[in-house]
Amino acid sequence: MSTASSLMEVFSDETVGGGVAFKNKTLKKAIINQLDRFGDQTIADLSKELSISTPKITSLVNELIQDGLLQDLGKIDSTGGRRASIYGLGSDACFFIGVDVKRYYVNIGLLDFKKHLVTVKEKVPYPLENTQQSLSALIKSIKKFISESKVPKEKILAIGINLSGRVNNITGYSYSYFHFQEEPLASIIQNELGIRTFLENDSNAMAYGEFHHGAVTTEKNVLFINLDYGTGCGIILNNELYYGKSGFSGEFGHIPFYNNDIICGCGKKGCLETEVSGQALIRLVKEQLAKGSSSILSKKIKKPDELKLEDIIEAARQEDVLAIELLAEMGEQLGKGLAVLINLFNPELVILGGTLAETGDFLRLPARSALNKYSLSLVNSDTQVKLSKLGEKAGVMGGCLIARSKVLSL
Ligand SMILES: [Zn+2]
Repeated sequence: MSTASSLMEVFSDETVGGGVAFKNKTLKKAIINQLDRFGDQTIADLSKELSISTPKITSLVNELIQDGLLQDLGKIDSTGGRRASIYGLGSDACFFIGVDVKRYYVNIGLLDFKKHLVTVKEKVPYPLENTQQSLSALIKSIKKFISESKVPKEKILAIGINLSGRVNNITGYSYSYFHFQEEPLASIIQNELGIRTFLENDSNAMAYGEFHHGAVTTEKNVLFINLDYGTGCGIILNNELYYGKSGFSGEFGHIPFYNNDIICGCGKKGCLETEVSGQALIRLVKEQLAKGSSSILSKKIKKPDELKLEDIIEAARQEDVLAIELLAEMGEQLGKGLAVLINLFNPELVILGGTLAETGDFLRLPARSALNKYSLSLVNSDTQVKLSKLGEKAGVMGGCLIARSKVLSL
């Protein structure tokens, strides 16, 4: 039987109780990490790989089984013809939650110990505003998800929350949203929920999810472009997220790209995001509709202020000429921006993700064509451009996996 106290003991970040207790805790974590990285193993495998004596491993594995963290998966034929028991992580030993905060909704998911997404609630309505009220509403929707999940709260070891803008994933500060108090936002939410909480930039979390469970197979150097209302980028170099000094790397949307007079959300003028993003697309559609362009959107949208990104994506799917033409122009601009990144990073793979990427090849093909036109040909011939495989789930998957990996490495 799994008990809350034994789970918390193994995964606590406190170093209380020195000596043997602390050493056993460290060894238990080593066993869990070994099984996590290399899959199910026998006592003999674990003993050899971790250089711990067989009696010691046997005793620790038994304790971990009692804690509910490991499972005895039955006997297999080992090399000497003797049958040995094989052990693996217990899938329902503990769980992790990922919360992907978008402009108008949140996606929330529950991941089990063996990295399966057990439940995902997509597009739970939630208006993101930089107010205390909006923060309280976010916490409330997470609490609701936890109570509806039917998983005992003590089995949920950590929560990963993705927010757009400047987020320091180490200190837990968010600077673009909910920076109202001296205390880091991660601690404020953690105190409210009673579950260890980590914050992550949304594009980084999506890149992480896609890298481990999405469109990436063997590639080590990958750029994930998050095309939503804003435009961000998660950078993976040599299999690791690249954060920069404070976690602020990958602000692709805010590179100075135009001599326009459009004020960006960051307060500056001429950012790439002012012409290449979901909010730019909405502005361009409204401008064209105001000029009298014909589109199925003009009939559908009586109030232009209510025009959502999803409406334009749907219009493109229905082969609306205005939507398709604007996406083609935006794709060309995106490709020009990507040419900069490709010349800098020489990546093997660029993944187009986020809500706007749901327009598929309407955006991807002109982007690919412009990328070839504007970047060095030897460099761009190394690079594939693919659409996100996880789609809406990329952020939830990343949020869960980052929280899980942080707990396992404590
Ligand atoms: Zn900007």
